[in-house]
Amino acid sequence: MKCSRCGATDRPTERHHITPLCYGGGDEPDNMADLCLPCHHYFNVRQKLQEDLENYRKRNDQYGRQMAEVYAVRLAKLDELNAPDIIRSRGTYESYYGHTTTAEREIKDRYYQEYKKQKFSV
Ligand SMILES: [Zn+2]
Repeated sequence: MKCSRCGATDRPTERHHITPLCYGGGDEPDNMADLCLPCHHYFNVRQKLQEDLENYRKRNDQYGRQMAEVYAVRLAKLDELNAPDIIRSRGTYESYYGHTTTAEREIKDRYYQEYKKQKFSV
């Protein structure tokens, strides 16, 4: 089988639900894609990160804004590390863990400075 994301033909594929079953997606052909294991793993991780990002956005407070920025950095790194051509040649999924530490710390520091300024300026 050919992976419908990266095009690899040298590895097993799994059926992926484009709209997940828990969001009302079904087994109809236009909701299904054949993905190699690393692409499937990438999609599942991406979906979870995206959900977390949306939930932080909904909070509409300072912590929510901070975490939305953190999750945007994680998503961008996940996409970069698992671009289709990279997965096709590397053959494995790569986690964003350890690749976003510095950027995340900078975001958190910036929000902490903002928080301190607010707290002590009233
Ligand atoms: Zn693939």
